[in-house]
Amino acid sequence: MNNLREIVDDTIQVLEHMKKSGITHVAVSRSTLDALGKSPIVAGAASVDLAALAARAKVCTKCSELARCRKNVVFGVGNVHAELMFIGEAPGADEDEQGEPFVGRAGKLLTKIIEAMGLRREDVYIANVLKCRPPQNRAPLPEETSNCLPYLLEQIDAIKPKVIVALGATAVRALLDVQLGITKMRGNWYTFHNTPIMPTFHPAYLLRNPPAKREVWEDMKTVLEKLGRPVPTTK
Ligand code: SF4
Repeated sequence: MNNLREIVDDTIQVLEHMKKSGITHVAVSRSTLDALGKSPIVAGAASVDLAALAARAKVCTKCSELARCRKNVVFGVGNVHAELMFIGEAPGADEDEQGEPFVGRAGKLLTKIIEAMGLRREDVYIANVLKCRPPQNRAPLPEETSNCLPYLLEQIDAIKPKVIVALGATAVRALLDVQLGITKMRGNWYTFHNTPIMPTFHPAYLLRNPPAKREVWEDMKTVLEKLGRPVPTTK
């Protein structure tokens, strides 16, 4: 997998260089596209777009403090054709270490929620508003959110999910111009660029307040209904 990632990274660099030189189209044979489509990393045009975007984020220094402190840029993970996209706040220490969103305790809980929905982590796409960890896990500054939001918007445009789940107040505020608290907003549908968005509690909040899992599960059942997927009866 690492070799494949290196090949993809090198390919992205070449494509970026070609783009800068004014080349806007590259001829690729059907058989090459088919082979790329079977790769777990590269699965079509959306993936190429995302890979190029990830390469840009990887060297981004728009937030000087975050760029200085980070170990990894945590871009996003999952199915580039996912019907369902989860968006959280920012990477924590585990995510910064591993370069993948939602891999710590809160991430494990999110994985359980996804599995309870009858899905696998690799069926959905998971990203954060910020791609770099704020020091000491402080809340993102407004300037950092506005610096990083264009990456998230491009991710959403490339993936075109049918439904977005916004995990916690930071994700909700970044995407929706609504001044209500997460407790009032969760469980209700909003729209972001024509995509239905369901605000719900962040898994980190659920670790501190386990009873709120019941409300999140209600929200996830509503999401499954919206996706036209079977809704498990008990949880
Ligand atoms: S948080 Fe986003 S905008 Fe800020 S440095 Fe990281 S990738 Fe760039």
